[in-house]
Amino acid sequence: MCAGYLTQDTYPSFDQIPENYSSQGDQPLQKLFAEVVLNIPLNKVFHYCIPLHLKDILTAGMRVKIPFGNRITSGFCVGFTNTPSTDKIKDIISIIDNTPLADEIMIKLTRWISFHYCCGWGEAIYAVIPPVVRTRGKEKWDTLVTCCDQTLKLDHETLQQIKTRAPKQARVLEILLGHSGEISAKELIRISGCNMQGLRQLGKKGFITLENKPQDTTPPLVAGTLQRHLTLTTDQQHAFDIIDKRLAQPTPGVILLHGITGSGKTEIYLQSIAKVLEQGRRAIFLVPEISLTSQTIQRIKARFHRVAVLHSHLLGSFHHSQWNDIKENKADIVIGARSSIFAPLKNIGLIVIDEEHENTYKQENNPRYNARDIAIVRASYENAMVILGTATPSLESYYHATTGSYEKIVLSKRIGERELPPVDIVDMTEEIRRYKGFQIISRRLEYYMNQSLSRNEQVILFLNRRGFAPYIHCKRCGFVLKCQQCDIPMTFHKKLNTTLCHYCHAEVAPLTSCPDCLASSIHYRGFGTEKIEDEIMAKFPRYRIVRMDSDTMRMRDSHEKALTAFERGEFQILLGTQMIAKGLDFPHVTLVGVISADTILNLPDFRASERTFQLISQVAGRTGRGQKGGRVVVQSFNPRHYSITYAATHDYDGFAKKELEYRKQLNYPPFGKLARIIFRSFQESKAREKSSLVAGRLKEIVKGNGSHLQILGPSPAPVTRINNRFRWHLLLKAQDHKNIHNALQNIADILKPSSSVQTMVDVDPYMML
Ligand code: ADP
Ligand code: ZN
Repeated sequence: MCAGYLTQDTYPSFDQIPENYSSQGDQPLQKLFAEVVLNIPLNKVFHYCIPLHLKDILTAGMRVKIPFGNRITSGFCVGFTNTPSTDKIKDIISIIDNTPLADEIMIKLTRWISFHYCCGWGEAIYAVIPPVVRTRGKEKWDTLVTCCDQTLKLDHETLQQIKTRAPKQARVLEILLGHSGEISAKELIRISGCNMQGLRQLGKKGFITLENKPQDTTPPLVAGTLQRHLTLTTDQQHAFDIIDKRLAQPTPGVILLHGITGSGKTEIYLQSIAKVLEQGRRAIFLVPEISLTSQTIQRIKARFHRVAVLHSHLLGSFHHSQWNDIKENKADIVIGARSSIFAPLKNIGLIVIDEEHENTYKQENNPRYNARDIAIVRASYENAMVILGTATPSLESYYHATTGSYEKIVLSKRIGERELPPVDIVDMTEEIRRYKGFQIISRRLEYYMNQSLSRNEQVILFLNRRGFAPYIHCKRCGFVLKCQQCDIPMTFHKKLNTTLCHYCHAEVAPLTSCPDCLASSIHYRGFGTEKIEDEIMAKFPRYRIVRMDSDTMRMRDSHEKALTAFERGEFQILLGTQMIAKGLDFPHVTLVGVISADTILNLPDFRASERTFQLISQVAGRTGRGQKGGRVVVQSFNPRHYSITYAATHDYDGFAKKELEYRKQLNYPPFGKLARIIFRSFQESKAREKSSLVAGRLKEIVKGNGSHLQILGPSPAPVTRINNRFRWHLLLKAQDHKNIHNALQNIADILKPSSSVQTMVDVDPYMML
């Protein structure tokens, strides 16, 4: 096997892709015919004749204009062949690009993606080249919006009036009022839900001004003086030596850097990158989410020149120029979220995946790839090293490290002899019994908050649920307010004074009486971050609290602003959803409170325990990072659940051992492999019928060739309806990917999209709802 770590049980190597994926043969190529793939959900390569005048120009990776059926469309040339598939071969009309948009490795990689994730090869290529690069950055101008004096003087009542007439326009004004300076119209439209017409109306009424201005241009990739590397501790040195030695080998493989929070992983990434640059090679650094990792990005930029950060929100031409800079070797390091794994960087020596366990690496629309797995495949093509860094490895990575596919390096101590914080579990059932009633903030959490705050230290509170109250029900008849379009209870948002569906964003005015029994006994049950904020302000009026969730963090720079203010001590309490669980390093934080450890634990998902363990460990890692030590309080109604008790004792290995036993018994990943097929239709019967049809075919396949495939379902998906579409699903489970791929290829014809039922195939799924 060429790349030793790509073993059969992890991912199929390129060679295992069956021949019909490309007709490129072994005979000397005369570039007689071009192989072209289209952006359609069909895994087929089409052959076209290359007119003489284009023969010398056409290169694989360029787009071409072609006749297809009775229309003219574009496609990517992925290669050449001497033997066309039919006699009725048509001519390429023209070549679209001057230079290839995808190089040989990217072509190979997208072919792997189409094979592994069962999507069209063309779909995969179109997905990895940013749209703005394909449109050649035509949108060089951007409309910028500023707020007028009239808006600044708006009183509450007038704003309320606008809100009843035009809620989205009111949202625009609210956003502008909470922001200094100009905002791009595109961004404003994205966060307010208003459209361009609405903005123009506001302009006409004199609330805002709209101005066309050229977009930002590329910032210099070269900055001022650089910081020097730190002297490594003995443990770090040991880890670095292993990496260093492997980097000198022709196929350096995959390293799992399993280091507890604060053990100095980032320093190891930085010095490994330095090493790779010394070798004249380049590096990609993936983070779970750009806006939440500003601290890490600053640390990288402080050490190296020629760093490109790929923000997903980069405006059109800006993204285009960044992409081109990378392609033209003007950057040595690319930092970005999952799609940056497709950065057109050449000569890669290292790919770092920070917080490799994060589910943001999985893309939840087509192609449904996992950037961590793509990194491993890409690195194997480039003979580069992959470092997977985390305090809480995904069970997949942990398992591959125990079987020897990956090399594992463990850092079990924090820098500076700092201890991991003690974790107190508060049994909320006991709390209710003892104090005769439910309090969101338990006595113990309140006690420790008082202690920390009175010593001038900081507190982080975590709750994975936004809004004020997640259930709105009638106390008299039991009615629960659900979204009209989704089978989901709606959440009350107090500040916006509205009721929202967190799935389809539908909005209804708050209820005053029950629509069923007409009694005025509407009750708001449960709690989200907004309610905790109220509660904290009432309990701790002397201290300032900042809330970070997707309601308060709509602006592009709001994360950075909030975190900087917290770092400067302008706030004593930071309250937030999962967006505050990762990577933060604040030395004055001495207490972390997990308001409810049960939000994920109760989900119908085989990873619920794993995600609960990860979340508690990650949140706990935000404290005790300074000299003052730290403490964690976890509130739960399941205080004896192993994911909570192992997290409380910081025992990853203990947790993994137990969880792996369960996974093995049920043949879930990392042992078995999964694929999920989702069927969506406006008519429930259609979704159900199609899912049984597919399940029937799969069962025949199993019977016919004795394939080791288990078919679970069909059944209604846990969320039975989203956006008026009914959802049914099927789960395929097999010992290896090969069985899954074979089965999916076998049913490809009946999975084709139809007008009444949409089907979605998700290989290695994360979303189980
Ligand atoms: P991790 O990424 O594992 O959570 P960090 O890299 O953030 O850990 O390190 C934790 C803290 O220790 C940071 O403040 C970092 O600057 C510091 N640190 C890391 N390595 C060293 C070192 N070799 N010498 C001194 N301080 C270090
Ligand atoms: Zn909805």
